[in-house]
Amino acid sequence: TEQPIPLARRVAEADETMIRTMYDLAEQQSGDLVRLEIGEPDFDTPAHVIDAAARAARAGATHYTPNAGVPQLREAIAEKMERDHGLVTDPSEVVAAAGATEALFLTLLTTADVGDEVVIPTPAWPQYRLQVQLVGATPVEVPLSAAEGFDLDADRVIDAIGDETACVVLNSPSNPTSRVSDPEVVDGIVDAAAEHDAVVVLDEVYASLDYAGDGRSLAADRAADNVVVINACSKQYAMTGWRLGWLVAPVHLAAAAIKLHPGTSSCPSSLSQHGAVAALTGPQDDAEAMARAFRERRDYVLQRVEEIPALSCPTPEGGFYAFLDVRALDGTSFEVASRLLKSHGVVTVPGEGFGAGGEGFVRVSFASGMDELEAGFDRIARMVRDEL
Ligand code: PLP
Repeated sequence: TEQPIPLARRVAEADETMIRTMYDLAEQQSGDLVRLEIGEPDFDTPAHVIDAAARAARAGATHYTPNAGVPQLREAIAEKMERDHGLVTDPSEVVAAAGATEALFLTLLTTADVGDEVVIPTPAWPQYRLQVQLVGATPVEVPLSAAEGFDLDADRVIDAIGDETACVVLNSPSNPTSRVSDPEVVDGIVDAAAEHDAVVVLDEVYASLDYAGDGRSLAADRAADNVVVINACSKQYAMTGWRLGWLVAPVHLAAAAIKLHPGTSSCPSSLSQHGAVAALTGPQDDAEAMARAFRERRDYVLQRVEEIPALSCPTPEGGFYAFLDVRALDGTSFEVASRLLKSHGVVTVPGEGFGAGGEGFVRVSFASGMDELEAGFDRIARMVRDEL
């Protein structure tokens, strides 16, 4: 038999994401499933955004754009960052990209050399680790303490920062813990990073879903030249498929990202850029209604978790995940999630998929609608009752 063509080592070295594994397991299963693994809003993109993109397409906006995005989008992003997140910035510091994902990747490409270290407090979104591996740098995971509700621990993170550190990636509100970081803790990390010429990347894609605060950026009150803020239309405007995000960085760093952008995608889709201008500058009613719905779901999920004494979760302060402590049940988080899927038809994501410190937990998304959540928690409650 013919050998398949050999692939680059990074393919074998990359971890399969747990979200993918659970998705594949769910696909093999018949019967009615309650899908609580997916981190995307079940709402439709607001109609005026779709209209704007369609109009732009008919008007000929179907060509390459500047690498940083069209000027009206960079302006709209700068205005939005100040209006919604208190971050005063200039369009020259804004680079539009294909989702927060590409904005993050560009940031890493711009700041981390092969062999450098990138510090990631965990549990965290698994793509950070994958992206760090793809740029040839080394992920350094700093497990946060479950006993402390996965509070961002400045001492632990600062201990991990050294001369090899190129970046520290912080995510608030967090996926998967839904915790919001304390601005003073972040400030301490930014200062420590600066001492080692390292950049702090603040992923704030869930900033608009901030139940404890007002969505203020953790970078809002300080002008640091080693901070990059990442955000996107994806979660706030139910635009995950449009692939439209951005980075806000000191101008020399933004210019560097623009220089490398032709090597990844050149620019985000021109149509998505025009849709994003409408999303950011147009009526905000739809986005506000969605944020209210997420808050109601959050309250509902918390109530359901409280009704199951064997389970608990850190109170979700932002975003749309509940990180359930399932240590009262038998087995690893993967085994718990597998039983939940095979015997009860509920799809979740095992905590071990989010890096060090996530074992013992299972992530449930409340981006899904109320009916799904009700059915999901009925089944979770049944499983816990059966097993204990
Ligand atoms: N950052 C975090 C923490 C996320 O959870 C996600 C999506 O789940 C992203 C970034 C990706 O955002 P985008 O779809 O804009 O690339």
